[in-house]
Amino acid sequence: MEDNNRRKFIKNVGIGAAAIGVAGLAGALSSCKGEKQEAPKEEVKEAPKAEVIHWKLATTWPPHFPMLGESADKIAQWVDEMSAGRLKIEVYAGGELVPAMGTFDAVSQGTVQMGHAASYYWAGKVPAAQSFAAVPFGFNAQSINAWILSGGGMELWEEVYAPFNLKPFLAGNTGVQMGGWFNKEINSMEDFNGLKMRIPGLGGKVLAKAGGSAILMAGGDIYTNLERGVIDATEWVGPFHDLKLGFYKAAKYYYYPGWHELGTAFELMINKDAWNSLPDDLKAIVEAAAYKSNIWMLSEFEAKNNAALRELIDVHKVQLKEFPKPVIQELRKLSQEVLEELAASDPASKKVYDAFLAFQKNIHAWNKITEEPYQELKDL
Ligand code: CA
Repeated sequence: MEDNNRRKFIKNVGIGAAAIGVAGLAGALSSCKGEKQEAPKEEVKEAPKAEVIHWKLATTWPPHFPMLGESADKIAQWVDEMSAGRLKIEVYAGGELVPAMGTFDAVSQGTVQMGHAASYYWAGKVPAAQSFAAVPFGFNAQSINAWILSGGGMELWEEVYAPFNLKPFLAGNTGVQMGGWFNKEINSMEDFNGLKMRIPGLGGKVLAKAGGSAILMAGGDIYTNLERGVIDATEWVGPFHDLKLGFYKAAKYYYYPGWHELGTAFELMINKDAWNSLPDDLKAIVEAAAYKSNIWMLSEFEAKNNAALRELIDVHKVQLKEFPKPVIQELRKLSQEVLEELAASDPASKKVYDAFLAFQKNIHAWNKITEEPYQELKDL
């Protein structure tokens, strides 16, 4: 074989090997040579079986809870498919293996390898973590993705989680939430006086500043408490879930926008020792599954919320209301106070909040000439 031909031959075999996989290489070589001999015996032996790794994924959700629990189920399914069964993930609902609110510690300590939650659940332990889920008057889904994935947010998140031996990934987003269910109209800030509302986290602190009381309870208890008047109001996520949970039977005013959660991000957190033990291809697969769930959940909410809202209004006669502008302006002022107090109380929260504010300025300037005109264009 001349040198030139040999180079071509090697090049073609190389392409063939990449395209058909190593198992077919013997056949490709054989046909290139134009010889009809049987493949040598050692090349038809079965490849050694890859080691199967078994992981546990604890979640903060009820079993297979629509969208949220489902996205954890899907992460397990996608990792299984992409890894051809080499990484098997068993998903546990909140309380099945560890209490829902014990998920952070369970992953941190390595009791389970993975957890699916929202990082603001860990506010008591890691106050700075709240910014990676949602803060009042914070980012929408598009902006939090931009901040965390491309604007330096992930480096900060990894830094905040490093002392807990955790590696975080984004793994879902609700989009803009609703403002909540109320039994009376909210016409001015005075209407928050004495209002008992189920509203978690920083939004709850804002409500407290407005004269109300934020009451925490598990998702499954909200409806009964609202119906019995233990609480006067509640927020959850948006029409898709709120319709299923039946809140319309216990409250008649449905307010927007969800100023306290404008695009709540969910997390897939992984114990770092477990993560470091994975081969590089499985790491890439886990990361790809997290990315997929991030866009899957947001797309599901965006596609399905409006039909649920129409049903609430048309069938169940819910009264859709917008918070008055002066109320929103005042809530914004109180939110800034809450966030500044948080930053002043904890150096890590200050570092994250400063970065958040810098990115917010950047994205708002860009959105001023992109997203804002887009909103106007639709109404022309
Ligand atoms: Ca909510």
